[in-house]
Amino acid sequence: MNTNEVIEKYNSAVISSYGRLNLALESGSGAAGTDADGRQYIDFGSGIGTNSLGYADEEWADAVSAQAHKMQHISNYYYNATAAEFAAKLTAMTGTDKLFFGNSGAEANECAIKIARKRSFDKYGDQNRTTIITLVNSFHGRTVTTLSATGQDVFHNYFFPFTPGFKYVEANNIQALRDAIDGTVCAIMFEFIQGEGGVVPLDKEFVDEIFALAAEHDLATISDEVQTGVGRTGKLLAAEHFGVKPDVVTLAKGLGGGLPIGVCLTRGEYADVLTPGTHGSTFGGNPVVCAGGIVVLNRLSDEKFMAEVAEKAAYFRKSLEALPKVKSVSGIGLMLGAELDGVSAGDLLKAALENGLLVLTAKTKLRCLPPLTITYEQIDAGMAILRGILEKA
Ligand SMILES: *Cc1c(COP(=O)(O)O)cnc(C)c1O
Repeated sequence: MNTNEVIEKYNSAVISSYGRLNLALESGSGAAGTDADGRQYIDFGSGIGTNSLGYADEEWADAVSAQAHKMQHISNYYYNATAAEFAAKLTAMTGTDKLFFGNSGAEANECAIKIARKRSFDKYGDQNRTTIITLVNSFHGRTVTTLSATGQDVFHNYFFPFTPGFKYVEANNIQALRDAIDGTVCAIMFEFIQGEGGVVPLDKEFVDEIFALAAEHDLATISDEVQTGVGRTGKLLAAEHFGVKPDVVTLAKGLGGGLPIGVCLTRGEYADVLTPGTHGSTFGGNPVVCAGGIVVLNRLSDEKFMAEVAEKAAYFRKSLEALPKVKSVSGIGLMLGAELDGVSAGDLLKAALENGLLVLTAKTKLRCLPPLTITYEQIDAGMAILRGILEKA
């Protein structure tokens, strides 16, 4: 099938809940993808920060296919060594105690919300101590409850009634955060860098205030690291840049190297809140996905690899900042947003696609989440494409 045939067939059979671009990707290697007509693309998006090792990494593909040949799924009635190894490795690497296995970011966040509320109820026996403070411009997922948690009015539409018990505070507004705390609050949930909200990092002072208020009022701290986690910012967790240890951490996007996984990591008393029968997920802990995840974690535990990610991130940032019509660059590591001067990010994305480069946008910004394995040559080639477009814009 060529591109047009793929698109026609797809649209005839799939609900159109996305505004898609006219691109049908068929294969790839590292940060280079190939479409159904044989055209090549440099990828600055990695499937929204998901293909952390790029397309079809050899070691990852071998581990995944070896596990598929051995056994693909077992259900959560039983144990599996691959899932055990992945969980033990991830909790050790993140300095957390225990995790829950799901399949997506939204599912990981649902679990975090349930843990925060059950912990509050177990301890205080109060059905009103359930409010979770989240931030304006946050993004936490597409289920009815994670849409509620998302602090953006555009997402609070059509699907009424939304789950109650969320309160939104402007990011980096310390006074607003203090004012929002009352006897109904049980948790504060946040992204260290708001991804969908425009690649906006939290201030260190604001993060410190979250943790101070949480300690003072016995609130759960929940960091949604679905986008910022798994090496994206040059550290395993973005929390390391802020020097804090949230009670609950959610990861998803980059964790499986492109396979569906979402985990909710917990520390201390939060590790023992869920008891048999209180939560579940049929596919959770799938051995094939965990086999891929182990390869990702092994790569990230290599100090040399992580040092390279940090160096490439600095180079990527400098290159972005040097582009014409780029006003400023936000973000940390390889999670970067560029504010543009007189150019629409959506138009730039379309022009980049026509010229063989895949990028993302977030609000009015150009957003780049390249695979952690991207090469300097690919960074240069992608930047040259952006430069060519922006010089003429
Ligand atoms: C993508 C994202 C989610 C949702 O993840 P899904 O896998 O699409 O459910 C949640 N939180 C953040 C911060 C995200 O970037």
